[in-house]
Amino acid sequence: NRQILLNSRPVGAPTPDNFIVNETQIPEPKAGEILLRTIYLSLDPYMRGRMNDTESYAPPVGLKEVMVGATMSQVVRTNNDKFELGDWVLSYSGWQDYAVSNGEGLFNLGKNPAHPSYALGILGMPGFTAYMGLMDIGKPKAGDTLVVAAATGPVGATVGQIAKLQGCKVVGIAGGAEKCAHAKDELGFDACIDHNAENFADQLNKACDKGIDIYFENVGGKVFDAVLPLLNTGARVPVCGLVSQYNATELPAGPDRLSQLMGTILVKRLTVKGFIIFDDYGHCYDGFVPVMDQWLKSGQVKYKEHLHEGLESVVPAFIGMLQGDNFGKVVVQLNSA
Ligand code: NDP
Repeated sequence: NRQILLNSRPVGAPTPDNFIVNETQIPEPKAGEILLRTIYLSLDPYMRGRMNDTESYAPPVGLKEVMVGATMSQVVRTNNDKFELGDWVLSYSGWQDYAVSNGEGLFNLGKNPAHPSYALGILGMPGFTAYMGLMDIGKPKAGDTLVVAAATGPVGATVGQIAKLQGCKVVGIAGGAEKCAHAKDELGFDACIDHNAENFADQLNKACDKGIDIYFENVGGKVFDAVLPLLNTGARVPVCGLVSQYNATELPAGPDRLSQLMGTILVKRLTVKGFIIFDDYGHCYDGFVPVMDQWLKSGQVKYKEHLHEGLESVVPAFIGMLQGDNFGKVVVQLNSA
């Protein structure tokens, strides 16, 4: 059983020596338990936070412990009558080949899910995050202008496409021309601006000629700085993530802009609300899956995966994702089905 453990805590961007590969015996399932073999491992930005020893909404990974993460796994031994051999299970097995479970908290998708790995992306945590953050906090109305960054990632791409279905004008922000072309041509966004462009803030201003009614916050940093002056009175800002800051080791250089931010919230009567998807909306998950399934089947929502192969690609894929090397939802196939 190959495992990837947290070897040391990163200062700034994670490096390969923050991780270490370990080999153990394949664990034995006891009475009532099942043995799961990881087929697909999901890599997500929140895992960077778990590497820090700081207080958050979830405890950190301990040193020399297996890195956490959602997996699509298959049942390879079973002592539990709710699970049969070969069942596909959405699990939280972490960065390893095998895990034992008593079945609690698992979703059994049966023997033949159409796209097993989709449960890690569009039909799972990131897709659900996009849906709830947009619909419950963003409250889109036809004619609104929505801006979302990380626009080709699983959250951003889904936010923009759902907003289009609600009749919004959608302006994406992404890193590079290829991602921007994908957002417009494949995902149907009205515009997409490259945040690496020198005149990025001017381009965003021009694309949002009626201001911004919903800013779905995925990245923070200079993107937020460019968005803030464009927000309309009554704008909604679902605060989902701040990925541009996850590797930061100190606050950005001054001047202190807190009073400018609070002044804008006051004068423009902004709604700025953070959320943690399963803590806040877990009870809505069962209602989301059929809605998204229908949008996927009808082609109204498109989904792009960035699939890597093999345990050796886990660490580079994770490090790369935090700096935008991924083009779509990052999934690693650890074993063949
Ligand atoms: P992505 O696959 O989109 O990966 C992160 C992307 O962020 C990169 O590909 C890159 O895209 C972009 N990025 C990285 N650094 C910067 C930067 N400095 N400036 C601008 N963009 C940057 O991730 P997800 O779709 O999985 O997640 C998106 C956000 O949603 C994250 O912040 C994540 O933490 C958050 N999230 C929050 C949840 C919650 O419950 N609140 C649940 C799930 C996700 P590009 O090359 O286009 O810049």
